[in-house]
Amino acid sequence: MAGVAPEGSQFDAKQYDTKMSELLSTDGQEFFTSYDEVYESFDSMGLQENLLRGIYAYGFEKPSAIQQRGIVPFCKGLDVIQQAQSGTGKTATFCSGILQQLDYAVVQCQALVLAPTRELAQQIEKVMRALGDYLGVKVHACVGGTSVREDQRILQAGVHVVVGTPGRVFDMLRRQSLRPDYIKMFVLDEADEMLSRGFKDQIYDIFQLLPSKVQMRSRDHTVSATHGDMDQNTRDIIMREFRSGSSRVLITTDLLARGIDVQQVSLVINYDLPTQPENYLHRIGRSGRFGRKGVAINFVTKDDERMLYDIQRFYNVVIEELPSNVADLL
Ligand code: ADP
Ligand code: MG
Repeated sequence: MAGVAPEGSQFDAKQYDTKMSELLSTDGQEFFTSYDEVYESFDSMGLQENLLRGIYAYGFEKPSAIQQRGIVPFCKGLDVIQQAQSGTGKTATFCSGILQQLDYAVVQCQALVLAPTRELAQQIEKVMRALGDYLGVKVHACVGGTSVREDQRILQAGVHVVVGTPGRVFDMLRRQSLRPDYIKMFVLDEADEMLSRGFKDQIYDIFQLLPSKVQMRSRDHTVSATHGDMDQNTRDIIMREFRSGSSRVLITTDLLARGIDVQQVSLVINYDLPTQPENYLHRIGRSGRFGRKGVAINFVTKDDERMLYDIQRFYNVVIEELPSNVADLL
């Protein structure tokens, strides 16, 4: 979820709708949804009466393009990635999704939202509180630079939602002032920024402490992960799991890009492109061995255009945009 509205920017739903549909038709990269139901009004989304009241009281009349597509899947408990330009209304999308799903009778933290800056966390807290006004939601912003004692007091008194920056949230979890047991929804706002700005380890630590059923992980795949900082023994065990099929998804760094032969990998997803075109084949060569069919999917942003071009030139191939029938290719 990327982007914040510039200070004082005015939201014009109609303008954004036009912009969005232009993006949709010209360039699927900017706005991509694998969920194609569109709800043109807040009323049609099946939201609770008191949430609707909050939304309208906040001054929203018509959902923005991303809200038309994102709120309902979020409410259904699906893992949602929303990516759109700044100012398109992503905050209200996940806030509504959270507010719809909270059990208000249970005053325990059920949703955790992480944001990269204190200001943003506090802004999200305000939106959440406003939209959830008629639901009686209890929200708290856990950010650095404020009193730890006060945070502890508020959390111990009970909240439904915590919005925070990774450092303070981890601190609260560590001190057991924030209990993870009831957390069922986890949102990373500005995820690309969060994952690239050195928060990665902190987010990983936090995620480790969350119950395994938390939303962003609900499909229940067994996932293994390996990276260069693990000792060899652990890496071997993980590779064995993966080879034997007891774990079917492997997350790895370039560490494994060379030399390891795991047969029957049917899909390679590159979260980042390699930094050298030569490594591309080492990575995706894990799939499609011995005449088996293999598919590679690359996540790219505008900044990766150059590397994508270099890779295509290096191998003299064309890498196509993700077709909608990708499941048929596997
Ligand atoms: P993003 O996170 O996508 O960058 P925000 O969620 O911060 O965008 O929203 C940008 C601005 O648009 C905010 O001022 C917000 O109040 C306003 N906004 C969002 N959704 C709507 C809507 N449906 N109708 C009117 N204004 C909206
Ligand atoms: Mg935002």
